[in-house]
Amino acid sequence: MANSIEIKNVSKSYGNTVALKDISLSVNSGEIFGLIGPDGAGKTTLIRILATLLLPDKGSAVMTNYDVVKDYKKVRSSVGYMPGKFSLYQDLTIEENMQLYATMFGTTVEENYHLVKDIYSQIEPFKKRRAGKLSGGMKQKLALSCSLIHKPEVLLLDEPTTGVDPVSRKELWEMLKKLKNDGVTVFVSTPYMDEASLCDRIALIQAGEILGIDTPESIVNSFDKTLLSINSSDKYKLLNDIRSYEHCNSAFPFGESLHYTDKRTSFDIPQIYEYLRNCGNTNVEIAVIKPAIEDCFMNLMVGE
Ligand code: ADP
Repeated sequence: MANSIEIKNVSKSYGNTVALKDISLSVNSGEIFGLIGPDGAGKTTLIRILATLLLPDKGSAVMTNYDVVKDYKKVRSSVGYMPGKFSLYQDLTIEENMQLYATMFGTTVEENYHLVKDIYSQIEPFKKRRAGKLSGGMKQKLALSCSLIHKPEVLLLDEPTTGVDPVSRKELWEMLKKLKNDGVTVFVSTPYMDEASLCDRIALIQAGEILGIDTPESIVNSFDKTLLSINSSDKYKLLNDIRSYEHCNSAFPFGESLHYTDKRTSFDIPQIYEYLRNCGNTNVEIAVIKPAIEDCFMNLMVGE
């Protein structure tokens, strides 16, 4: 399978802040690739480098066989980019925004209407409305339509689901799947770990470094520890006590409970139970659970 994106040893700093440290990864043609990491991990910086809007300090990136620095004009014509912050002209209507983007890329909305039909038809009834007056979900659909109007081979999306309601989030992922079926390569960043399973492959990124790259299933399957979910009456005390436990490898709050891994390869759960009870915790419940991507992320971070 050909690679649509080839990133080699890319580094980028802003003054003393190191945003990306020696990043290398490749994205296959026609896959949905997720760049997953918390705020400040370096996602926007990497996507802006791929979108030819920012120069790397070191390393190279090739998009659809074109170098993002030397051949930036060719990259721009073959790549669509949906930034995290609004790319829309707020004072222009839906229709005008679409026409403007089409004109910038030397095409017309009519010529490529079929590419955006599924998405655009949902907001077309409101085409005379100004972009600034649209709901979050509608803005997102318009921004996506604008980034697709020049028929890109690769679509870069920077946190398209951040701050978007759950229905629009679901719709967006359905649209990305459709685009993949139409042969578009999708490179999407997200801070939401639960979106990992919607990608073919993912890269976990933290503090400018890639912690792991694989299919979501393989990342979960490579989790090499017994994961416990622990609960008690006082979660704050529980977290402090378990973190002070001599065998504690990691302990993180996770929804209603906390997730725990032990330094030892084999251990008895009753021992931990006993320790927590002796510390004064009440209603302690411990269960072995299956890891989620977030657990893998934490595990990789601790293991660094
Ligand atoms: P993410 O998209 O994952 O939130 P960013 O790429 O925006 O991460 O940021 C990575 C790091 O670079 C962060 O520490 C951020 O504060 C810093 N950073 C990003 N943009 C700038 C900038 N223009 N000037 C200085 N620091 C920046």
